[in-house]
Amino acid sequence: MLEVIDHEWARGLVRTWNDAGWMAAPTRLGDRLAPLIGAQPGEVVFGDTLTFMLAKLIGGALVQRPQRHVVLTDAANFHSDIYIVEAMARRAGRPITVKAIDRATLDEQLDDDVALVMLTHVDYRTGEMLDMKGITADVHAVGALMLWDFAHSAGAVPLDVTDADVDFAAGCGYKYLNGGPGSPAFLYVRSSWQGILENPFPGWMGHARPFDFELAYEPAKGMQAFVTSSPSIIALAAMEGALSVWDRASMKQVRAKSLAMTDLFIALVEERLPGVFELVTPREHAKRGSQVALRHADGYAVIQSLIERGVIGDFRAPDICRFGFAPLYLRYVDVFDAVEHIAQVMTSKSFLDPRFAVRNAVT
Ligand SMILES: *Cc1c(COP(=O)(O)O)cnc(C)c1O
Repeated sequence: MLEVIDHEWARGLVRTWNDAGWMAAPTRLGDRLAPLIGAQPGEVVFGDTLTFMLAKLIGGALVQRPQRHVVLTDAANFHSDIYIVEAMARRAGRPITVKAIDRATLDEQLDDDVALVMLTHVDYRTGEMLDMKGITADVHAVGALMLWDFAHSAGAVPLDVTDADVDFAAGCGYKYLNGGPGSPAFLYVRSSWQGILENPFPGWMGHARPFDFELAYEPAKGMQAFVTSSPSIIALAAMEGALSVWDRASMKQVRAKSLAMTDLFIALVEERLPGVFELVTPREHAKRGSQVALRHADGYAVIQSLIERGVIGDFRAPDICRFGFAPLYLRYVDVFDAVEHIAQVMTSKSFLDPRFAVRNAVT
C-alpha cells in the first residue's frame, strides 16, 4: 500500500494505470484467489463489496431462466443477502417470488419453477457449513442455477467450486481473507457461463474498449465484463498483500489448525463452564466453519466484557456470542487465554455491570 501511495500514485500519477498494471488488478487478484476456492484462472474477479457482487450475479442469473418465477434462499441468511435478492427480483421484468425458507426443507421446495437458489455456505450465526456439492447437484437436478455466498468460507475452509459444479459464487475480502475493513469482494462465474451471463450493471471498465468512449456497450471478454467502475487501487493493494500470505500457507494446513483450535475452544469451555452456554456450532468437522457460536441470554454483555479484556468476539442478535478463529495469526495459547477470560467473566458475573449493556452501533 505504501508503494502504491508514495511511489506509484504520488510520483507516477495517472500514467501508473498503464505502468503498474492497475487496470488488470481486479482480474489479477481474482486469479490469485482462484486456487483458494478451487476455481481456474480467468473465473474470478475482485471489485465491489459483497452485496453488490451478489446483485450482479442474481441479476445475471435471473435472465438465464426466463420461464421460471421462484428464487429460494435461506430464512437464516444474512439480512443484506435477502434485501438484495428481493430487490433484484422486483426488477427482473417478470413476477418473481423470493422464498426465504428453512434450508432443511430445500428438497421439498425444489421444482421446475425455481430459477435460482442462493445460499450462504457457512451460516454467519451458527457457523454451520453446508454440503456445497450435494446441494448444488440437487439444485441442478431441477434445472435451477446455484449461487453460493462464501463470506465465511473463503480463506476459512477448503472449497472446490469446480468439483461441486457451482454456477456462481461471491465472497467478501474482509473476513478470513484479511483484506482490511470494507475491502473489495470477489465473484466467481464458471467458465462455461462466460460470454453468456450478462453483468446487469454495465460500466465503462467492463467494456471491450473503455477508452474508445463508444456509446454502445460491448462487454469485455472474460471476467473483466463483471467490472463496472474504476478499481479501488489502494484497497486492492491491501487485498493483494493479504492474498500473498497464501503463497506460504496451504488451505489444508490452515483448515487442520482451524479444526484443532475450535475443538480445543469447545472442549475448554465445556470443561471450565459446564452448562453455562449452549453450543450452537456443529461438533461434526464436516459441518463446521472456522467459528464457534455460543448461545447465552446475556450474550451482548458477555461479549462487551470480554472485549474490554482484549478477547474480541462479536454478538449476533438475539443471543449468539461468536468467536472467529483465524489460524494464520492466532495461537493455541490465545485460545487458552480467551477461555480463561471467559471463565473469569462468567464466574464473577462481571458481565452484569451496567456499562456492558450499552449498545454500540456495531455489535
Ligand atoms: C459479511 C457478509 C456480507 C457483507 O456484505 P458487504 O456488502 O460486503 O458489506 C454479506 N453477506 C454475508 C453472508 C456476510 O456474512
